[in-house]
Amino acid sequence: MDTLEEKFKRKYTTALGHERAFVEFTGLKTLWFNTGTLCNISCEGCYIESSPINNKLLYLNVNDVEKYLNQIKINNLPCNTIGITGGEPFMNKDIIPILNLCTKLNYHILVLTNAMQPMINKTKELIKFVNYNKLTLRVSLDHYNKDGHESIRGENTWDKALEGINWLSKNNFNINIASRIINKNEKLVRQGFAKLFAEYNLKIDAYNKEDLVLFPEMNLCADTPEITKDCWDVLNNSPKNMMCSNSRMIVKRREDSKTHIVSCTLIPFEKDFSYGNNIKDSLKTVYLNHPFCSKFCVLGGASCSNN
Ligand code: SF4
Ligand code: SF4
Repeated sequence: MDTLEEKFKRKYTTALGHERAFVEFTGLKTLWFNTGTLCNISCEGCYIESSPINNKLLYLNVNDVEKYLNQIKINNLPCNTIGITGGEPFMNKDIIPILNLCTKLNYHILVLTNAMQPMINKTKELIKFVNYNKLTLRVSLDHYNKDGHESIRGENTWDKALEGINWLSKNNFNINIASRIINKNEKLVRQGFAKLFAEYNLKIDAYNKEDLVLFPEMNLCADTPEITKDCWDVLNNSPKNMMCSNSRMIVKRREDSKTHIVSCTLIPFEKDFSYGNNIKDSLKTVYLNHPFCSKFCVLGGASCSNN
C-alpha cells in the first residue's frame, strides 16, 4: 500500500505507525459561528471554497446562535469571544440580529469580512454598533497593492474593499487587516501595508501583529507531513497554541440542514472533527489527522482567533 495514500487515515497513529499528535482542551475562550459558505467573490486558495454558489454550509439564523449561547450560559463556560466567519457574514440576512444578540450578552465579537458590497449594504444598521467597543471587524486584503490582491480575489475587488475599509475607519470602528506573508518576507509585507495605511490615512499599525494579522502562504494541494506526538518538542511548538485547544465552531450543513459543533474554523465537514450538538460534550481531545492540522496550524502557525 502506498504510504502517501495512508496518510491522515487513522485517528491515533500515523501511516508509519507513530503515535499521532493530539490537542487537549484547555477551556473555551472563543465560540465561532460560520454564518454560511456563500460569498460574493471566489478567492483562489479559499480554504473553505466559498463562492457565490457554494452553500454547503447553510446560513445560520439568530435562533441557531442563541441556542449555543444559552448552552455557554447554562454550563457556565468561560467563553468571552464570539467569532463570526463565512463565506461573507454580511450576506446572511440575520447578521444584524446575531450581532445584536452578542452585544446584549456583552461578548467580545470578531467578524471576518471582505468589507465589500454585502457589508456596505448594511452600513445603516452597522453604524448602530459603533460605540460597542468590544466589536472588531477583521478585513481580508490579500496584498498591499491592487494587482497582487486582484490576482487572488479577482477583478474589481480592490476598490470596493478599500471603500468598505475607509467607511469603517472614518466611523472609528475597531478594524484589523488579515493578509498573507508573501514569499516568506514578513518585513516587506509590513512595509508595503504601512505605506498603504498611510496613503489612506487608516488608523492601523502595520507593525502590530494584531492590527495586521499575517497568515502563512498555503498551497492547499501540496503534500504535508503527518504530525506525531514527538513533533511538538522537535518543532518547539505546543498543543496549547492550536485553535482547537480553546475554540469550537458551529456550522449548519446542507447535507442534513442541522447545526453541528466542529473543532475549529478550518475543518467544517469532516466527521472525525465533529462533536454533535452539545458544547459541553464537544470539549474533548482533538487528534490531528487532517492535512490542515499539519499545513495550517502546526507547521504554518495559523490561528483565526485573537487570543
Ligand atoms: S472573501 Fe473570504 S470567504 Fe469569500 S472566497 Fe475570499 S477567502 Fe473565501
Ligand atoms: S486544523 Fe483545526 S483541528 Fe487541526 S490543529 Fe488546527 S485548529 Fe486543531
